[in-house]
Amino acid sequence: MHMRAVRYLGPGQPFSLQSIPRPEPAAGQVRIKLKACGMCHTELHFRDGLLDLGCRDVTMGHEIAGEIEALGAGVDPARLGERVLVYYYEGCGHCEYCRTGDEQLCPAVKAQPGFSSDGGYADYMVVRATNCVVVPAHVSLEEIAPMACAGTTAVHAGKMARIRPGDWVVIHGTGGVGLALLQYARHMGGRVIAIDRSAKRLELASTLGAEHVIDATAQVDVAAAVMALTGGADVVFELVGREATLRASLQMLRRRGRYVLVGYSADVLQVHPIDLIVREIQVMGSVGSTLQDAHDIVDLVSRGVIRSLVDHSIALEDFEQGLHTLEEGHAQGRIVIRFD
Ligand SMILES: [Zn+2]
Ligand SMILES: [Zn+2]
Repeated sequence: MHMRAVRYLGPGQPFSLQSIPRPEPAAGQVRIKLKACGMCHTELHFRDGLLDLGCRDVTMGHEIAGEIEALGAGVDPARLGERVLVYYYEGCGHCEYCRTGDEQLCPAVKAQPGFSSDGGYADYMVVRATNCVVVPAHVSLEEIAPMACAGTTAVHAGKMARIRPGDWVVIHGTGGVGLALLQYARHMGGRVIAIDRSAKRLELASTLGAEHVIDATAQVDVAAAVMALTGGADVVFELVGREATLRASLQMLRRRGRYVLVGYSADVLQVHPIDLIVREIQVMGSVGSTLQDAHDIVDLVSRGVIRSLVDHSIALEDFEQGLHTLEEGHAQGRIVIRFD
């Protein structure tokens, strides 16, 4: 039996919609019938060659939600039919990082659906059973799918930053991760300032609880604007990764502020050590998430603490159009591929 899949062939090449054999679950794995798959900027990075993991000919898509429809050997039969969100790292299982639950840091990852192994831009996919997080019946799979990356990344970065009640938290870039982070920061007691170039997304940020929003297209010095409002932010989440935003994010921090890097582009930030030293700036990268973060985001969404923002959904065949909208930066929240 065959199925549809959108394949990454190599850097700088367009993705290709192909018919490939439906995968069979190995021992410990399940096969998932896709119901929804969110589109992430990572796909653009793959296509443009900015992110090259050396893998070729893999199915894209790591914001996966679907139903378990076949079980490999050794998987609990009770799992058949479960509605799940997929955690997208399968670490080696025995290094120090895996042992402590930080599979996103495993230097010998076995599989990473949508990155180095086949992901969710397809009718079916197989994954380790323990990576499947049960989604409560009242949460739609279309709604939860984008949270598999956008939401988990936000929870992970939020934990890294150790947000404390009353902290001024700047969300620099209000895409899918930014909007989830905004809500997480608010939940942790942070006071949020959102910066973006889209008036519509800033309106959404206000609705979700941002105390101030700054339109970066308005020729304002965003760092000076944040300083004026706060005297210096406690935490800045850098989700854009352009040279100008990277620089401004650093400048708007208070002394001993936390500079959390999540988004990136082809740009590089040059900084003199003294800019970090004399203000005791804490720089931290945050990549992906842990399996616990995936469980946490499902819990937060199902309790209504974090809303998943879906701009619109498309059919798998229309993936090019979805990527284009993503690239243009017009989406408010995620674009989701829906499988009927
Ligand atoms: Zn992603
Ligand atoms: Zn490992």
